[in-house]
Amino acid sequence: MVPETQTGSNIDQYAVFGDPIGHSKSPRIHQLFAQQTAQALNYRAQQVPAEHFKSTVQDFFAHGGKGINCTIPLKELAWQFADTLTLRAQNAKAVNTLTILPNGQIQGDNTDGIGLLKDLTTNHALLLKSARILILGAGGATRGIIEPLLDQAPQSICIANRTLEKAISLAAEFNHPTLLGCGFDALAGQQFDLIINATATSLTGTLPPLPPQILVPQGICYDLAYANIPTPFVNWGLAQQAAKSLDGLGMLIEQAAAAFNIWRQVYPNTAPIISLFNSERNAH
Ligand code: NDP
Repeated sequence: MVPETQTGSNIDQYAVFGDPIGHSKSPRIHQLFAQQTAQALNYRAQQVPAEHFKSTVQDFFAHGGKGINCTIPLKELAWQFADTLTLRAQNAKAVNTLTILPNGQIQGDNTDGIGLLKDLTTNHALLLKSARILILGAGGATRGIIEPLLDQAPQSICIANRTLEKAISLAAEFNHPTLLGCGFDALAGQQFDLIINATATSLTGTLPPLPPQILVPQGICYDLAYANIPTPFVNWGLAQQAAKSLDGLGMLIEQAAAAFNIWRQVYPNTAPIISLFNSERNAH
């Protein structure tokens, strides 16, 4: 697709790159933010296979593009590509927001963690201080959320992953006394106040293997994945009588708002956008 800057339009261009990208909600979210904050911009979704990532990003910025969001499977490539990284992107070793700076350098940032934290602590008024947190999965999304979760001073964070070595090496990388990595089989007999599903299982309609009573009574479940119907993990949480069993729609909208703020220096009001998307899916 030819950026509009090439066709004479002066409207700032943004995009989300990923593969697959067909069902991305990001163009609509950013267009709603733009309307709400009276910003003139275009934001489109573009399918970009990993092998074309570098050339497509270079082309986008060479033609006047202002910013790019990166999603599966491009976040690590974006981290490698960026000329300069924010501290949180350095820690996460994954980038979901690329921005061209006034000096022409490309800055990489990661807003996934702040997106999750805003949803948990602002939108759902949850206090994470002293909580025992379990993160299921040790992939790119987990990398982005560890540091902001540690900042909330939980009692402990356990990363459990199907591939044990990845959980252990990820926990070791962050080198924090309250952070541990383990396999799913080590979860028997343990209890957590908050369980976050950061595995890709919801995308295939399955669940990580979880022992009974692993969630404290009235605990919280949060699936980073989201769908128009409750995900298997959200349903699992409801069956455990969780006080709240949430999916990642709020996180998606909050990480987008943080990216929008980086690009436009104005923070959108996310509450009406989250309400709109929730009412639309309740109507299904
Ligand atoms: P990755 O591909 O980087 O990691 C996937 C993780 O899932 C790995 O830990 C992998 O384990 C685990 N996994 C995959 N299949 C299974 C299975 N059958 N059983 C158990 N574990 C499994 O993905 P991301 O970290 O980027 O994304 C994870 C999820 O988070 C996705 O659903 C994604 O859509 C969602 N997400 C949501 C966001 C939002 O804004 N709401 C933002 C970012 C991500 P192993 O290491 O053993 O392969």
